[in-house]
Amino acid sequence: VTPELARLVALQEVDSDLQRLHEALELLPRREEETAARARRARQALEGQREALKHLALERREGEKLVESLADQERKFQGKTAGVRTNEELWALQKEIRAVREQRSERETLVLEAMDREDIERAKLPTLERDLAEAETRHAEALAALAVERAELESRQAARRADRERQVAELPPALKARYERVLAAGRRPAVVALVKNACGGCFTAQPPQRAQEVRRGEFVVVCEFCGRLLVGTGGDS
Ligand SMILES: [Zn+2]
Repeated sequence: VTPELARLVALQEVDSDLQRLHEALELLPRREEETAARARRARQALEGQREALKHLALERREGEKLVESLADQERKFQGKTAGVRTNEELWALQKEIRAVREQRSERETLVLEAMDREDIERAKLPTLERDLAEAETRHAEALAALAVERAELESRQAARRADRERQVAELPPALKARYERVLAAGRRPAVVALVKNACGGCFTAQPPQRAQEVRRGEFVVVCEFCGRLLVGTGGDS
């Protein structure tokens, strides 16, 4: 294999590394967003529960007011009994008193049920508060860890970019241009090995003569189908 081909293979390795680093960096914001979303959901759950409790308390207080006004009514009716003259009037008044007392008793039951519901819902708060605290701690930890990871990836990226510049400078301009063209066309990796006499990138079988030229490794052979640069063999030759 000529030094030129060896350089091409080395450049290809650096580019693959750069691609992996780029992909890892691209994933960081998504990982950040995942823990942020978890914290957000925990906060929404807690706030939703607090809001629900407020509504329950409001409903319960309205019920209590109704019970009080029914008790007032009952007292008023009872106050009237002393001034009643006939039995009919008394029966009518007593009927009213029974009716209002019944209503009050029903309303009191509803208030008690509302209190039970409030207790049950309030008991869920500590768990939701703990969930939120945990999610926020995890998010803060993830942010710190991801910042360290980003710094590491970026410094490796900078080092690999410097490697690339050095290697590109050593390639003959025509070969460099050809290599960059394949990359620009979105064919990664740009340099591939022969696999059973086929291009390792597009898997199109190569004519026997071209396959032999690749094996000899005297010059760069281009796959006519995808434009990738063919170097060496895939280990099965
Ligand atoms: Zn090909």
